[in-house]
Amino acid sequence: MANVSLQKVEKSYQNVHVVHGIDLDIDDGEFVVLVGPSGCGKSTTLRMVAGLERLTGGEIHIGERVVNDVPPRERDIAMVFQNYALYPHMTVAENMAYGLRLRKMDETEVKKRVAIAADMLDLNALLERRPQALSGGQRQRVAMGRAMVREPKVFLFDEPLSNLDAKLRVKMRAEIKKLHQMVRTTTIYVTHDQVEAMTLADRVVVMNKGRIEQVGPPQLLYHEP
Ligand code: ADP
Ligand code: ADP
Repeated sequence: MANVSLQKVEKSYQNVHVVHGIDLDIDDGEFVVLVGPSGCGKSTTLRMVAGLERLTGGEIHIGERVVNDVPPRERDIAMVFQNYALYPHMTVAENMAYGLRLRKMDETEVKKRVAIAADMLDLNALLERRPQALSGGQRQRVAMGRAMVREPKVFLFDEPLSNLDAKLRVKMRAEIKKLHQMVRTTTIYVTHDQVEAMTLADRVVVMNKGRIEQVGPPQLLYHEP
């Protein structure tokens, strides 16, 4: 596990500032949700933590390390995307194992971790299927499994439920919450859905126009206009 600290984090493209000097300290094991209107800079902020975007100012710390120049693979993070990003030619088991095999992890350990994740996420019956033979909710569980087996210090979620129908969203929300209660991995979760934010967050960060507008407990959102 690790704490994450954003210090005066900035991002601009040419002359357009999309993130304006954000300061945010996230505790070890905390579940923080970034909310705010479309285009306010949530995803850009998350992608900077992931190492998928470079900062144009400030620093990001994960645990003891300043990670500004650390490539994504070496950050001890795992990210779950809205579009699942599964490999179509691989089975569910292979998809989950991929990131570990890439890192040349011992095969016994790979199998063990995939088995544990499959149990936790109820994927045992699906391990030999390919993504196209899965429902949206099942695909999203595989994407979570792929992140989980890495045993990262930090989980990053970028609108992971946006492509699911309302009923499935509610179910997956509960599963994500249960998973966090079990593993207690530091989590940063981006959504534009306030209900999702309220049910999942230990702390909600409301962004607007590239700035943090409010930080507080989920009840904070009840006072939004
Ligand atoms: P959110 O996740 O809150 O919807 P984003 O972080 O995706 O917002 O985007 C924030 C702003 O940055 C938007 O105005 C978007 O158009 C802009 N932006 C994102 N990526 C790029 C890019 N590669 N080039 C230029 N502008 C970008
Ligand atoms: P990992 O090595 O962590 O298992 P992958 O090999 O699956 O990651 O992906 C390589 C890089 O591409 C990672 O840094 C990941 O964050 C990024 N990436 C994967 N899927 C997507 C996506 N759908 N959108 C944006 N970036 C992605």
